[in-house]
Amino acid sequence: MNPTKRKQSGAIGTVILFCIAVVCAGALWIYFDEDVARKLKQEAEIQSMAVIGDVATKRLASASGEGTHGAAVDLIKRPIEVREVAENIHYATGVGNTIMITTSEGVVLFDTGLVIQSANQLQILKDTVSDADVRYIILSHSHADHIGGTRFWMDEGTDIIAHQNFEEEQRYLSELQPYQYGRNRTLFPWMPAWEDRPDIALMRYGGIVPTITVDDWETYAFTLGGIEFQVIGAPGAEGADNAVLWLPQQKVLISGDFFGPQFPQFPNIFTMRGEKVRKPVEYIKSLDRLIALNPDVILPSHLDPTIGAEKIRKGMQRIRDAVQYVHDETIAGMNAGKTVNQLMKEIKLPANLELVQNHGRVDWAVKSIWEYYMGWFRFESTTELYPIPAQDVYADLAQIAGNENLIALANNYLIQGEPVKTLHITEIALAGDPQNASALALRGQALVELLERAENGLRNDYEIYWLKSQLDTAP
Ligand SMILES: [Zn+2]
Repeated sequence: MNPTKRKQSGAIGTVILFCIAVVCAGALWIYFDEDVARKLKQEAEIQSMAVIGDVATKRLASASGEGTHGAAVDLIKRPIEVREVAENIHYATGVGNTIMITTSEGVVLFDTGLVIQSANQLQILKDTVSDADVRYIILSHSHADHIGGTRFWMDEGTDIIAHQNFEEEQRYLSELQPYQYGRNRTLFPWMPAWEDRPDIALMRYGGIVPTITVDDWETYAFTLGGIEFQVIGAPGAEGADNAVLWLPQQKVLISGDFFGPQFPQFPNIFTMRGEKVRKPVEYIKSLDRLIALNPDVILPSHLDPTIGAEKIRKGMQRIRDAVQYVHDETIAGMNAGKTVNQLMKEIKLPANLELVQNHGRVDWAVKSIWEYYMGWFRFESTTELYPIPAQDVYADLAQIAGNENLIALANNYLIQGEPVKTLHITEIALAGDPQNASALALRGQALVELLERAENGLRNDYEIYWLKSQLDTAP
């Protein structure tokens, strides 16, 4: 044998082996690269979000003032902690809860909280409950306080389950964000101005695409590690894209915002912050479905669980009957030829259906049900058809009436306990003379009177926020 040739073939063999090793290492590197890089990037994002979130939460908490039970301003002050509902059900507290259900085959999450709190919620849940793979993330609806941490929780192959309308709701909320931000900031003046908000990609709203969807009153059922899960489309409460999770073996209903932050309370079947109308009859139908489940526990996405089948059943029935009552009375009044303002004054919950109204409010529900069915034209005045509101002639009216007469009239109304009429008259006076000190003072007194009534009456959060914002912006 030619020794040179053998030596050569040995060298070729070494080269080939070396090449194979390099290719394998390269392939492994490429294989690991994507996964490792994705994980590293995600970890870096979580770390950054934890830092940004801490600063933002502290700022908001120190500037946020007072609210009623369950108001956003109170929620931001809650420490982030893990609470146990059952051996396999935990949640991290915050403005919005992040709920974790553990199984032997991975975890299922329900809602992912407000973005600025999501990294801390993630860390505490992973540290104290489970860091197993996230198999499903179920999103109750598209509001920012429920979906903020989704990107941080995603593992390879995590499914996102949401209502079929989730993407559409997310779209319009994204498109109208600058406008809605302004409205929200009027109610929550501790929010930074739109141009000063931290515009960081990690914190941006939107862009979530569910991989599994449920339609209205449809159920998506699956079993994981022996635990049965049923995701149910439940429209009507906080929007057209509500979904809830039912755990039939444990009789636990994970309800998102379906009932609002308290249980039971009159629901926000519309919101004065401004959003698409919410559908009252669909809400009642959703409630009927949930009542039929007969839950032992309701675990919401704000605040803490309600426990006890009897208490829950009675509460759900009362909410359903109250909404049905307000709906039917509105329809009856419309058919009897009453105006929307008359109906807002007249329709009250009977004693057996009494519910707190700090979130949703009966008279505003009447107005929204009216508009839900009839739109904006009330058939009350021709002027409604044209973009020339009464305010356009206020300055002329003020000149004819004279400041003194207007001030006397505004004052009289205040003395008679009619602060809203005082506001009407001061608006006319101020249209003619924007700096008129007496008119401004009376306007302020009328607002203070309304605020006192609100705080001693229904304690509706949104009414209180609005009145305070008007007092704060008084010149
Ligand atoms: Zn919410």
